[in-house]
Amino acid sequence: MKKAWKAAMLATFAVGTLVMAGCGSDSTSGSGDLPQVGVAIYKFDDTFMSGVRARIDADAKGKAKVDIVDSQNSQPTQNEKVDLFLNKKYKAIGVNIVDRPAAGGIIDKAKAANVPVVFLNREPLKEDMAKWDKVYYVGAKAEQSGEMQGKILADYFKKHPEAYKSNDNVLHYVLIKGEPGHQDAELRSKYVIESLKNEGIQVQEIAQDTAMWDRVKGQEKMAAFLSSYGDKIDAVIANNDDMALGAIEALKAAGYFQNGKYMPVVGVDATAPAVQALKDGTLLGTVLNNAKKQGDAVFNLMFVLAKGETPTKENTGFEIVDKQYIWVPYEIVTKENADQILGDK
Ligand code: BGC
Repeated sequence: MKKAWKAAMLATFAVGTLVMAGCGSDSTSGSGDLPQVGVAIYKFDDTFMSGVRARIDADAKGKAKVDIVDSQNSQPTQNEKVDLFLNKKYKAIGVNIVDRPAAGGIIDKAKAANVPVVFLNREPLKEDMAKWDKVYYVGAKAEQSGEMQGKILADYFKKHPEAYKSNDNVLHYVLIKGEPGHQDAELRSKYVIESLKNEGIQVQEIAQDTAMWDRVKGQEKMAAFLSSYGDKIDAVIANNDDMALGAIEALKAAGYFQNGKYMPVVGVDATAPAVQALKDGTLLGTVLNNAKKQGDAVFNLMFVLAKGETPTKENTGFEIVDKQYIWVPYEIVTKENADQILGDK
């Protein structure tokens, strides 16, 4: 009896040590035979990507050593980081590409080194994806998030016809765009408007400008829109929550969200501060861009590939579409379902 207990204790200790060895990014000492993988994020200073990165790091514990690096929004820097991963013979790599057209060059190098690549969040062009069968992409269908934003706004204007400030039943909007060329910026901007029209809402754009996914820039652009167009604006469409929150700051400074003065603002991501804004009644709605599920899909793919296996639904937990893609669905988030949505994910 005593012996069995001791053996069990030792086994538990051994497992504990293994798990400990896998802790933290780039843990190298005493990690035994855990496969080494690397991930190059386009820039660490991005709210949504910070969520994805944290999840990849957490998923790796006890399973793989993961080296997550900051490309500082520079393609040359990212290329150097990827070269280093390949020189160190990492078993699989993840790339959140800085400039989408640069994916082709990375694929060529990875193929030459026979190191599988998982792109995430910033989608390579189709012709680049076709260069090699050990290239994957994890993301969400950008058009779906735009459609959902349109639905949120259409529901609001159908319930609140008094919100058309010019009393002409036309929704005059301003659009704060993410980084031009990013599939999420281009497609969200297009589909939010199509979706409003499909819902029977007449729309007119007052102004649009990019704020590069950034909260401070979002605030500046909104302040500029307000000083030029003031009371003519019926709604604010932002391609992500950070820019929506920046716009809300500018609106607050102009007297909105007090004494009955209101402006519907929609974003995408459902980050923690955005959900707080939903609860405060400043943000009208957002769309869950599921950072946790995208992180899981990236890690599971890299892990399977690092072991030399072919990814399937069974070994990754996600359906592999067209042999190369994992799509994580978006979901509408409003004040009503915020807690439930976030609790579930
Ligand atoms: C997110 C943005 C983020 C961008 C980074 C988008 O999917 O919605 O918040 O800044 O990805 O590439």
